[in-house]
Order: sequence, then C-alpha cells, then structure tokens
Amino acid sequence: MSESVSSAGDFISEIVRADNAAGTYSGRVQTRFPPEPNGYLHIGHAKAITVDFDIAKNFGGICNLRFDDTNPETEETEYVESIIADVRWLGFEPAHVLYASDYFDQLYEWAELLITTGKAYVDDQDGETISAQRGGYGKPGIDSPYRNRTPDENLELFRRMKAGEFADGTRVLRAKIDMNAENMQLRDPVLYRIRRGHHHRTQDRWVIYPTYDWAHGQSDAIEGVTHSLCTLEFVSHRPLYDWCLAQLPLPYEQPRQIEFARLELNNTVTSKRRLARLVNDGIVDGWDDPRMPTLSGLRRRGYPASAIVAFCRDMGVSKTNSRQALEELESYVRRHLNKTAQRRMAVLRPLRLTITNWPAGQVEYFEVMNNPENPGDGTRRVAFSGELYIERDDFAVSAPPKFYRLSIGREVRLRGAYFVTATEVVTDGDGQVVEVLASYDPQTRGGDAPDGRKVKSTMHWVSRPHAVAASVALYDRLFVTALPGETTGEPLDDLNPNSRELLSGCQLEAALTEAKPGEAVQFERLGYFAADPDQPMHFHRTVGLRDEWAAIQKRKG
Ligand code: ATP
Ligand code: MG
Repeated sequence: MSESVSSAGDFISEIVRADNAAGTYSGRVQTRFPPEPNGYLHIGHAKAITVDFDIAKNFGGICNLRFDDTNPETEETEYVESIIADVRWLGFEPAHVLYASDYFDQLYEWAELLITTGKAYVDDQDGETISAQRGGYGKPGIDSPYRNRTPDENLELFRRMKAGEFADGTRVLRAKIDMNAENMQLRDPVLYRIRRGHHHRTQDRWVIYPTYDWAHGQSDAIEGVTHSLCTLEFVSHRPLYDWCLAQLPLPYEQPRQIEFARLELNNTVTSKRRLARLVNDGIVDGWDDPRMPTLSGLRRRGYPASAIVAFCRDMGVSKTNSRQALEELESYVRRHLNKTAQRRMAVLRPLRLTITNWPAGQVEYFEVMNNPENPGDGTRRVAFSGELYIERDDFAVSAPPKFYRLSIGREVRLRGAYFVTATEVVTDGDGQVVEVLASYDPQTRGGDAPDGRKVKSTMHWVSRPHAVAASVALYDRLFVTALPGETTGEPLDDLNPNSRELLSGCQLEAALTEAKPGEAVQFERLGYFAADPDQPMHFHRTVGLRDEWAAIQKRKG
C-alpha cells in the first residue's frame, strides 16, 4: 500500500517528464481538479483528485480546484462548499479555489474575437435541427442556412443575445469549423446558448452561457494550466480543445489535455446524475447516506481518507476503462483500520447472561489494550460484573455440530475476564430463551486457567449495569449486480432492497459514549463501526472483519 505520492512510472508522468525535458512550459507544471458543482463528489472524483494533485506535487508544481460552473440550472453553493470540504478531507490543499464563472467576461470577449475573424456564427435553428444536421460517422453534415452570415451581422446578433433580446433556446453561437470533419465534435459545435437560469455566483448578470467546450480549455489557459488531466470520454473533445485555444491570444503556452480511465466500482454507480436520483427519489437519506459512494457518505460510514487515497494510487492510471471490486476498496479500509482503530466490546443482539456464583454487587475492572496492533494506544478500564450481556448468536441451548460457543454444560472464555459454564436457561411464555444462567471459575481471572485447561471459544460481553444502549446500522451493497442496470439499462432495477439493516437496543461498553464521529472503532469479533456525527449513540458498520477480497483472490488462484 502506498502511503505517499505514487511512483512516477505512469504514462501521464512520462508525458510531463518529456515536456520538462523539451523545455515546454519552461519546466512549469500546473494541474487543476475541475468539478461541476452539481452534486457531491464520489469515489471516482477521489481518483481524479489524487491524480491531479499527485502529478503537480511530484513535479514541484501546483494544483488548483476550479469549479466548472457554467450551467446555471444545476449548480448550487451547497455543492461548492461540500466539494471544497471533501477535497480537504482527502488530504489535498488546492493552491487556489477558482471559478470558471469568473472568466465569463473574458470568454465573451474571446467569442467576439472568434466572430470577428469569421470563425463563429449565430444560428437561429433549434437544438433538434442542429443535431439532425450534424450527420454521423461516414455521413456528412449539412450546413446551417445561417452559416454564411457576415461577421458584422453575427456580432450584432451575438450582442443582442447577450443583451437578452431573444428567448431561451432561440439562437446559439456556433464555431465555424468543418461540417464534414470525421470528428463529430468539430462539426460546428455550439459555444453559447441562451439560458435564463439564476447562477449561484453571477446571479442574473448573464443570459448566455458558454458550453463546456468553450469554457474548459480557455479556463485552463487563463489560469496557466500546463497539463489538463481528464477522463477518457473527453478524448474526442481534444481536437476541439486544441482548435479553440489555437484561435486565441493566450496569456501562457497552450495547455495539453491528457485523458485517463475513470474509476468505476462494482455494485454501485458513480455518476452525479444517478446519485442525485437516489437522493431525490428518497431511496437513500441524502448525499451523505453511508451507503452512497460519495466521499461524504464514505466519511460518515467511517472510511479513512488515507485508505481511499491509497486505493486510488495503487489502482494507477490507465488508458482503458475497467471496474474495480468493492471488496478490494473494503480491503484497503480494513487494513488501514486494523492498524489504527481502537478495539471495543459491543453486543448487537443482546442476551442476558447471569453468573449465579458471582458475589452479589461485586464489580471488577479489567485493564484492556485499546489496540493490540498499536501498544501506543494504551489501555482502558472495562467493568465486569455478574450481570452481563452476550451476543444472542453466541448461545445455543444444545450445541449443533461445529458450534463451539456457549451451550448448556459448555465452558467458554469471556474475553479478558473469566471462564464461564452455562448451567440453565430462563425462557419467556413463548419458550424463547431470555436469559442464560452460568457459573464462573474465579481461578481463571484474566482469561486463563492455572491448570492449563482449554476452551474452544472466546466471546465478547458487556456488563449490564455499565452498558450503554445504542442503535447500529448494518450495510450491504446498494445494488445487487456488479454493473447496475446492465440488463435493463435502468440501474434502479437492480437496487438491493436490503442494503440497510437497523438494529436497536444494542448494548455497548461505556467507553463508546466517547467515540468520535467518522472515526471507526473495532467492535471485537463484529467489524469496524463509526459513530454518527448527528444522532447520538448511533453507529454505522464501516466494514466487517472478514477479508472477502483475499477470498476472491484465492478462488481465482
Ligand atoms: P458525473 O458524471 O459524476 O457528473 P463528471 O465527469 O461530470 O461526473 P465532474 O464533476 O464534471 O464530473 O468532473 C470533475 C472531474 O472529475 C473531471 O475531470 C472528471 O473527468 C473527473 N471524474 C469524474 N468521474 C470520475 C471517475 N469515475 N473516475 C475518475 N475521474 C472522474
Ligand atoms: Mg459532468
């Protein structure tokens, strides 16, 4: 697992190194992470963030956070704030926080320049007509009847578009490139459209907004970005990115767009639009629901930022798309938590265990290590008494084959405390076991018998008079299939109806009242759990203890 900046043997580093060797950009390296503030960041963005910041850092450069905020309808300040917080949480500090909307004046001026040089025109046709005329592969496009307007005519119309004289959607500005270009993006792409949306930063100052293609590369160029890293779906936009920049007097050398593969995870979706649907349809509690692959969801669930970044680094950069198993990410989380998480005892489905030969009212305290993997975490005092809770699953009246936990007549170890033997059960009117009576051996204090006799199992417990009640959420995959929507095209068809199981009446050792939200602790034998930041004494299961990824690898041989 890589804890620091990734090895620089990837193809993006090769390009940067070659640029540096050739003296392009005078050895300067500047990247940016450019989210659109139309939702919360997800695990895929963590990948882009890691690549953008690591490349800058590895080459002594800087990385900015730039909001690509050119769509007034979908963007909100709430998203801007969450994105800034999430980038910082991952451990990256942007050199500057910037906004494409701050360049609206410059972008507009450059559009006028393009018109003046005869490289752009105002088209009065609607979107449907324009796309129908675009043609297809091997099928030439059709020129718009407005393609040959003069620069003066175009300039006048464009200014009137800006002044708000036309209704939404009635005119666009298009680049005049080549209606027969093999690359569809070059068939006179739209650069500006009329939209009367309220913008979260420029308010109602503008009624025309630049498209991605007119805003992105120019924003890079204005900021002095050298290497504009993005995902593979932008490969086909690169010639347009380069074309736009080639028409303009840039303040710096023209940036270079480099594409890498998206990070996708099985059994979940990483598209803001789809995640927004889960939120808006009430399928999850919000963007930060612990089942969501959003960074805020994973944080609430107890995923350490360091594990997410290590996972992104180790997956490397590639030029072909692929999907990663969720189990592999969980395996990173588990390994990080195994080293850092403190151990506690918690009983999720409590059953009363009463020690009949325990001196009435006596309480003993055991000094227990907080994390055997890290002695520096010290010890804590855990109260033990004759009235305990054990896990319901840890008891069977008569043991079935291969059941080595507590049953009548069987002796087991209560972790760090004593050996106990179950003697009797108390049942309710329905015959349900509600309490187990047991005897203990005072000679086994600390959990070992002086005569060397062995027991087959060690169980966790909490002392009833000292326990605190809590609720716990257990999680399963949000989608039942590896690639949600693979058969029907609709991911929601593959939702897992049992992705969350809520348990109430759990009994926890008292130290857990001090658990810090988002910082997972290990409930012994049960997994890693994180306290909820808002709801007192509510815990989320981060991951279980069993390394399913190791099992999958083993099966593959
Ligand atoms: P979405 O489809 O989820 O809205 P997007 O690509 O529109 O994603 P943006 O917020 O516009 O998301 O993208 C910000 C940056 O993050 C872009 O450079 C984009 O390429 C990158 N990115 C988005 N999703 C992934 C992913 N799954 N893996 C790697 N990088 C990603
Ligand atoms: Mg997008």
